[in-house]
Amino acid sequence: MTDAADLRRRSTELLATYPPATTDRTDFLKARFDAGLAWVHYPQGLGGLGAPRSLQAVVDAELEAADAPDNDPRRIGIGLGMAAPTILKYGTEEQKQRYLRPLWVGEEVWCQLFSEPGAGSDLAALGTRAVREGDEWVVNGQKVWTSSAHLARWAILIARTDPDVPKHRGITYFICDMTDPGVEVRPLRQITGEAEFNEVFLTDVRIPDSRRLGEVGDGWRVAQTTLNNERVAIGGMRLPREGGMIGPVSTTWRERPELRTHDLHQRLLKLWVEAEVARLTGERLRQQLVAGQPGPEGAGMKLAFARLNQEISGLEVELLGQEGLLYEDWTMRRPELVDFTGRDAGYRYLRSKGNSIEGGTTEVLLNIVAERVLGLPSEPRTDKDVAWKDLAR
Ligand SMILES: Cc1cc2nc3c(=O)[nH]c(=O)nc-3n(C[C@H](O)[C@H](O)[C@H](O)COP(=O)(O)OP(=O)(O)OC[C@H]3O[C@@H](n4cnc5c(N)ncnc54)[C@H](O)[C@@H]3O)c2cc1C
Repeated sequence: MTDAADLRRRSTELLATYPPATTDRTDFLKARFDAGLAWVHYPQGLGGLGAPRSLQAVVDAELEAADAPDNDPRRIGIGLGMAAPTILKYGTEEQKQRYLRPLWVGEEVWCQLFSEPGAGSDLAALGTRAVREGDEWVVNGQKVWTSSAHLARWAILIARTDPDVPKHRGITYFICDMTDPGVEVRPLRQITGEAEFNEVFLTDVRIPDSRRLGEVGDGWRVAQTTLNNERVAIGGMRLPREGGMIGPVSTTWRERPELRTHDLHQRLLKLWVEAEVARLTGERLRQQLVAGQPGPEGAGMKLAFARLNQEISGLEVELLGQEGLLYEDWTMRRPELVDFTGRDAGYRYLRSKGNSIEGGTTEVLLNIVAERVLGLPSEPRTDKDVAWKDLAR
């Protein structure tokens, strides 16, 4: 059984064989994956050692202390947090071998083709069609709000394969090649002025059946794994104390005494405590995940993350007064990542607005917590037994 001492020994061995100072970054990351030190809770041969997930921190600390490069998790968050756990659970052996290593190393960026103009919160209503032709599926439709589609090599895609059954049952889950000529990616500019996400048009995109994840018609169940992991990935990131949005405002408070007021002090203290509670709760949630995949409880973390980010960034703008209203640059850019702490207060304030929408809106997550965590009666659903093709759209 792998324990902390064993992981320290393996980390030392890796560092000795591939000294970070003289080894190419990608070569080091590949060697780390092959040594099972990428995500220790994954199986052997797939970047892990089948160890408890909580022991990842041991490896991370050893490698960080030796100045080893990391895989820049913020740049590849959709791959790491959403595609990988879904491939691990539903992928064939060939799919796991093909996709997980370049995903973790960061050689291949992933995006998520789920939301559509007419299907966001009601995702199961989606209309993108996949029609089987021999060993291939021909996909036509439009997706929207696709973060990182302009950087991505692969996408996780859900599409309707059977319009004659109720909406949740006729969906199938695929891996889509974003370099296919039928895939057109167009930027969508958001409130920050940047275009971090896109609309994606799929026209006669041919996906081999070997890139299907899970059974035909079982895509909704497969997608639950992605969505539950998405909420934990968004809301439950591992952070040091003051590592999130509370960090910059606390620093300003300490360094700029002339800005302080009694009222802001009380509010900052309250938010600081809440941010710390959320951080520690995230830590506990990750430890509970040791044995498996996250369930609907992940929704709670994401709810807290969105509310706190919006309140904290609002407080920061107030604290900075006129300065807080300045915004660094309105020219449209295509950022590679969402950087909450490396940017200015105006960016944080504007970007955090999307936190209560992405990965499921606050209202929808409250419904999930009510129904699936607290066991309260579910919302009335009149379309459960109606074929998708007969639904009003
Ligand atoms: C920054 C950002 C990044 C994103 N990235 C991606 C991505 O990479 N890939 C992807 O597929 N999608 C992505 N999305 C899309 C996101 O998942 C959807 O925007 C979200 O699910 C909401 O869907 P919608 O926009 O269609 O809003 P709608 O579903 O139309 O909701 C409109 C309003 O109605 C409310 N509402 C809807 N249904 C209910 C209900 N049953 N009970 C109570 N209130 C309800 C909602 O809370 C909301 O306030 C991203 C969104 C953002 C903001």
